[in-house]
Amino acid sequence: MSSDGLFGLRDRVAVVTGGNGGIGLGIAEGLAGAGACVVIAARNRAKSDAAVAKLAAMGTQSIALEIDVTLERAWKLVVQRTLDQYGRIDILVNNAGVLLGKPPEEYSLEEWHSVIDTNLTGAFIGSQAVFPEMKRQGGGKIVNIASLTASFGSPFNVPYTASKGGIVQLTRGLAAAWAMHNIQVNAISPGWIDTGLASGIRARIPGFNEKVVARTPAGRWGRASDLAGVAVFLSSRASDFITGAAIPVDGGYSIQL
Ligand code: NDP
Repeated sequence: MSSDGLFGLRDRVAVVTGGNGGIGLGIAEGLAGAGACVVIAARNRAKSDAAVAKLAAMGTQSIALEIDVTLERAWKLVVQRTLDQYGRIDILVNNAGVLLGKPPEEYSLEEWHSVIDTNLTGAFIGSQAVFPEMKRQGGGKIVNIASLTASFGSPFNVPYTASKGGIVQLTRGLAAAWAMHNIQVNAISPGWIDTGLASGIRARIPGFNEKVVARTPAGRWGRASDLAGVAVFLSSRASDFITGAAIPVDGGYSIQL
């Protein structure tokens, strides 16, 4: 075993999409804390710069690269710039995601595509973009952010739930395809986590906050930092024989009637 132990990520390079806020930043901080160099890959430059400053204050190396995850050419640039900066890519966290809430009959095709393209297609083309380098290096870790809505229906978020169901299946398919290259592909299914994405729903639906707390055995909303541990685990040697899994991080929300 290396001196970095089972869970250490020293000298590993991680790309975290949407790593400039919410769950992505919680994960980026976890990976940086375990020793990784982190590439914050997102759209909003000011948020990304603030995230890099936060990671730098932890004494870790990180950079921000601008990307719209729906664009193949943007992925090529991110991979190239990461290799120029660090010379390797060990971990990809496909976390960038958007949510639109309305009854299914009211979505335009454009709105459907905006959700599916960001949440699902972005993770696919991102995984394709890092694959050649991971294969060349002899292995890698891909962590996709799914959701409990991969298994539960939700009447106001149909494109979102479809994208998250797709993420779990994308995870299984890539895991099966790339295991021979020592690339493990797993998903995390967060429960209700207190971020910008969830606060919109919370504000829109009266009583929703209390409903989540009452239904969750842990008795609280999740925090972005609650995702850090499982992300480190799935990015480290400790999970080398785990692939294609979707791990709930939900305070027990999905296991209680
Ligand atoms: P936030 O809205 O806080 O973060 C979403 C992130 O995605 C932002 O950092 C944003 O970056 C980035 N992003 C969105 N679209 C794009 C794009 N086209 N290209 C690049 N980056 C993009 O939400 P969360 O932190 O809550 O969500 C993170 C992930 O967790 C999502 O996949 C979400 O579906 C999932 N999730 C969240 C849950 C929750 O309860 N909060 C529950 C289950 C899953 P920028 O601002 O730069 O655009």
